[in-house]
This record gives sequence, structure tokens and C-alpha cells, in this order.
Amino acid sequence: EAPHTKGTRHRRIGIMGGTFDPIHHGHLVAASEVQYRFGLDEVIFVPTGEQPYKQDRDVSPAENRYLMTVIATASNSRFSVSRVDIDRPGLTFTIDTLRDLREIYPDDEFFFITGADVLPQILEWKDSDELWELAHFVGVNRPGHSLVTDGLPLDDVTVLEVPAMSISSTDVRRRENAGIPIWYLVPDGVVQYIRKYGLYSPSRFPLVSQP
Ligand code: ATP
Ligand code: MG
Repeated sequence: EAPHTKGTRHRRIGIMGGTFDPIHHGHLVAASEVQYRFGLDEVIFVPTGEQPYKQDRDVSPAENRYLMTVIATASNSRFSVSRVDIDRPGLTFTIDTLRDLREIYPDDEFFFITGADVLPQILEWKDSDELWELAHFVGVNRPGHSLVTDGLPLDDVTVLEVPAMSISSTDVRRRENAGIPIWYLVPDGVVQYIRKYGLYSPSRFPLVSQP
């Protein structure tokens, strides 16, 4: 053990990156299950800034997505929300997320949580060969996607079965836009927040306009 870490316990920190437009119970169940199964001290939700793979659609302003994430996680003492991605100018790349969090938490162990749809994309991410030094990756099942780890480094990736939630943000946005109920797909406070600012209505009045 290095002298400067003597007596300190390395915390185990989960990191759940996402657009969270909006955050829904699929995200929350996955984070909660990984927290429990991996004995994590904390799970940090990190809403993205602009994303390289989502530039083709109108994403809600970061401040709205951040606040929905805060509302959804507020009641869980092990959940927190980080602004590192939304405060960093430019596109969000996970390597930058992990480097920024590593500076804040130099001695802690990181577990980056992703759904089965994201897992096969990781090898194409910026500086993907360096991701594994910064975090262990945990892939969770997601309805409609098979949980495959082909090509991923075996030692750095674990797959975990979580209660399957057939919910996506895309579906929540479509439902709200069409006047179909979204109750119970997202936390009540998030439904109310979406309605308050008309986030996915045909006419939108977001809290903060996009920079
Ligand atoms: P969108 O439809 O806008 O892409 P989404 O529902 O996929 O939204 P994201 O914010 O893109 O949500 O996802 C953030 C992370 O959460 C990703 O790693 C994704 O795989 C995971 N995730 C999202 N929904 C689920 C779910 N229902 N079950 C398990 N993992 C999920
Ligand atoms: Mg997605």
C-alpha cells in the first residue's frame, strides 16, 4: 500500500453515464442493482453534454436533463449526480468523463455501468484502449438487446443480470408527445417536471435555452 493511502479505504464508485432525456426507471433499477451486487459506496449519474452519436436529434437542454436526474435520484442516499460532462465544453466522450472523475476521486475504484445496447459500441469510443485503466465496466441486460462482450477485454468487463425494464427515453418522449401516459415509467417528480416545462410537448418551453 502506498504511504499516502495508508489508513484510507478505497471507495467503490459506480458511474452511470447517459443522456437522461428523460431519466427513467430502467436507469434507476440498473444503477440500484449494480450498487447492491457490487457493494458500491455510491453511484454517480453523469448526464452528458453534447454527444457524438446523438447529433441527429434535438436533445433537451443539459440543465433540464441534469435537474430531472437530480429529482429522480434525490431520495437515494447512495445516488448522486455530477456536472462534469455538462460543464465541459464540446462533445462528451466517456474517456473525458472518467479522467475528470479520476481527478476528483484519485484513489477510488470506478465501475462504469452500461446497458446491453451500449456495450458493443465501446470499442469504437475515443481512446477506448485507455478506458479499461480508468474503470471496470459492468454491462447489464436490456430488453431487445443481447448481452454480448465480443472483443471486449475479459478482465475489465463483467455482465450482470438486472430486473428487465422495457423502458427507453425515446419511448417516453414519444408517449408524452402523443398524450399517452408516462406515469410509472419515470419517477412522479420527473413526470411533473416534464409537464411543467412542456419538454416533449409539440410546443416546447424548456427552462433553459440551448447555448
Ligand atoms: P434514448 O432512447 O434517448 O437513447 P435510453 O433509454 O437509451 O435513451 P440513455 O440515456 O441513452 O437512455 O442510456 C443511458 C445508459 O442507460 C446506457 O448505458 C443505456 O444502455 C442504459 N439503459 C437505458 N435504459 C435501460 C434499460 N431499460 N435497462 C437497462 N439499461 C438501460
Ligand atoms: Mg440510449
